[in-house]
Amino acid sequence: MINLTIDGKNVIAGKDMTVLDAARRAGISIPTLCHHPKLTSFGGCRLCLVEIEGIPRPVTSCTTLVGENMVVKTSTPHIVELRKTILELLLSDHPNDCMVCEKAGDCTLQDLAYYYGISENPYEGERRTYETRDGNPFIERDMEKCILCSRCVKVCDEVQGVGAIDFAYRGFQSKICPPFERDLDCEFCGQCVAVCPTGALTGKLWAHKGRQKNVNKVDTVCTYCGTGCNLTLHVKNNDIIRVDSAMSTWNEGWLCAKGRFGYSFVSSPDRLKTPLIKKRGKFKEVSWDEALDFTASKLKNIIKKHGADSVGGLSSARCTTEENYLFQKFIRAAVGTNNVDHCARL
Ligand code: SF4
Ligand code: SF4
Ligand code: SF4
Repeated sequence: MINLTIDGKNVIAGKDMTVLDAARRAGISIPTLCHHPKLTSFGGCRLCLVEIEGIPRPVTSCTTLVGENMVVKTSTPHIVELRKTILELLLSDHPNDCMVCEKAGDCTLQDLAYYYGISENPYEGERRTYETRDGNPFIERDMEKCILCSRCVKVCDEVQGVGAIDFAYRGFQSKICPPFERDLDCEFCGQCVAVCPTGALTGKLWAHKGRQKNVNKVDTVCTYCGTGCNLTLHVKNNDIIRVDSAMSTWNEGWLCAKGRFGYSFVSSPDRLKTPLIKKRGKFKEVSWDEALDFTASKLKNIIKKHGADSVGGLSSARCTTEENYLFQKFIRAAVGTNNVDHCARL
């Protein structure tokens, strides 16, 4: 273990911990934009600068490991001024259209500008403007709001293992894009959207559907497969307008495209809500009693005529473990056959 002092507080940290992690664990707040606890450190945004006794210049706390008897200061007037300047520089090349931005109220850049009281910008100069929008179906990529923090690039590579996006060009022209600036064509897991600290990446499906303060957040489990990822549904007027997942869940906030973007079926008018039986060539809505009696009599007739092994049961990954257990029990004990399988093996 390593003993150090951060802002006058004695802190004990693991030898592999960064100064940032040690400070946060001790309840000392250091602002960041590019850092994400599930991704490797980048040190790109420079907001986490701290002063360390014996080191002549401020260093990024997200890339500096703790040291024995280290003395760290996280918020001296000089550090605060540096952070303000960094934020002012970022905002000097930013649309600053929080009033219509999907991310407003949930944006780290906006929060930091508020915290450091940055209302006017002393820097004037050229701003990046991009006319074309990405034509992909799920992810709105507004690169004018991108602060080049690299979180999206890292999550796509380190978590998803896809590498669909990366930095392109150099200097002022630098931007994040898919190869050859084509439209994004990837797994559409949306992990990049989940980690983006600004409104540069948002979901096309949730555009203009509602502000975060107006949604009711409901935790649930995804019904698409047996993995059982935790979801948080953002509900407004009894409609799901967005889905995300908390980092504290077993799936660490990561989802697949179905879990994150495939929620429109819940309120779809095409959704099947009652059983249907085909009568004279057309499906008719019937009660559950009628449907179950009909199915049971058909099954009985088949078993009587052809034997139990002429029946097979296919279960579903969309059911719970308990439902799948009951289904195989029904096929084995009630129908009398071992012909039972599951859609995940098809
Ligand atoms: S990304 Fe954040 S700071 Fe930028 S316009 Fe949107 S809410 Fe405002
Ligand atoms: S949606 Fe997933 S696969 Fe596509 S760019 Fe983002 S992280 Fe990569
Ligand atoms: S798109 Fe978002 S996550 Fe990616 S580099 Fe830009 S600001 Fe960071």
